[in-house]
Amino acid sequence: SSAETSLSLARSHELFAEAQTLLPGGVNSPVRAFRGVGGAPIFIDRAEGSYLYDVDGNRYLDYVQSWGPMILGHSYPSVVQAVTEASQRGFSFGAPTQAESVLARLVIESVPSVEMVRFVNSGTEATMSALRLARAYTGRSKIIKFSGCYHGHADMLLVQAGSGVATMGLPDSPGVPAETTANTLSVAYNDGDAVAELFRTYPNEIAAIIVEPVAANMGLVLPQPGFLERLRTLSSQYGAVLIFDEVMTGFRVALGGMQERVGMTPDLTCFGKIIGGGLPVGAYGGRREIMQLVAPLGPMYQAGTLSGNPLAMAAGIATLNELRQPGQYERLEQKGQLLSEGIERVLYDQKIPAQFVRIGAMFCLYFSAEPVTNYASARRSDTAHFASYFWQMLERGIYLPPSQFEACFISLALTNAQLADTVAAVSAVLKKQD
Ligand code: PMP
Repeated sequence: SSAETSLSLARSHELFAEAQTLLPGGVNSPVRAFRGVGGAPIFIDRAEGSYLYDVDGNRYLDYVQSWGPMILGHSYPSVVQAVTEASQRGFSFGAPTQAESVLARLVIESVPSVEMVRFVNSGTEATMSALRLARAYTGRSKIIKFSGCYHGHADMLLVQAGSGVATMGLPDSPGVPAETTANTLSVAYNDGDAVAELFRTYPNEIAAIIVEPVAANMGLVLPQPGFLERLRTLSSQYGAVLIFDEVMTGFRVALGGMQERVGMTPDLTCFGKIIGGGLPVGAYGGRREIMQLVAPLGPMYQAGTLSGNPLAMAAGIATLNELRQPGQYERLEQKGQLLSEGIERVLYDQKIPAQFVRIGAMFCLYFSAEPVTNYASARRSDTAHFASYFWQMLERGIYLPPSQFEACFISLALTNAQLADTVAAVSAVLKKQD
């Protein structure tokens, strides 16, 4: 626990004690509370480039990046400038601005399957709206999701990971009526046969498949070859909408997201995180034929007082413009490779039974002797070992996501020397634990 660390965290602990009297669990989003590693969170004062600075004056290399958005590093000058300039023209008008078309064009040019886009304020809104749209388009009710995939906190998506094959929707949280999740079918990630079976059982009832094309909310699970392609074939065959939730992977694993890497065309795509550059933005988009059902062009209602917010659009535009510069994703891949080679060598040399998984600038280290292919195998990792690793990495100035079941992110701001320091820290920590 945090008691084991020699870091001075007194001010963080004071602030956390106060916050707990005011906010449930002292936080506004559960995983921030460090429950996954059994301690108290560090409170952040500021961040710059690859570093986070906490309220006690400790400095950390940041592998959380606000859970993904800060791919350029913190306080990136052109993004700061764009947001500053936008703020001087007014915060929000509730009326159209050209910035919305500028960001829409950047998304559409970067992701060929997206012909039209609607901006919202979070990934949660993006996925729940995309599913409403898929249901409106097909006139059907059932949806398929995969256990261990997270698509935000909408009622219908809070469905428990089921063991084995198809699990009829059981709510994951009190407060979610069973009726709300009754149309949510959940199967194991990478299990194409289970999806085929669901389509045979309900050939005319399934509106959509929603999938994280790389599953980044149970650690990091890659799609096995053919899995995503099978989803495309089945959804086309049965007239269901294929939704890629690229809230994590969009503009992260490639400019065009995971769909670019696998050369696929989903019907709808959800975005969040990077497209807002650290301000609250989500988006859903896809085929024009489907998107034209969205109000006011069509009957599918979806709205937002702050949607398309000028500051958020400015941050998104500046961020995507940087990412569209030549060589950025090659740089991210090269940084990822440095880390992979270093950490894999440590695991090999020290004979650590762990799985290092990486795609582009995202990675995860599972403390498990077996390959992780789905939620069931992810859950078999040694979370106590992870917790001890987490605190010792923190002590060495490396801030990792405080849970075995989250992905780590590499930013463009991380230098090769900082990546080498990270590998050295992993080596020292794992050696010590031996
Ligand atoms: N989809 C995916 C794949 C996500 O990773 C997340 C959040 N981590 C969401 C949706 C929900 O996004 P938000 O937290 O912005 O509502």
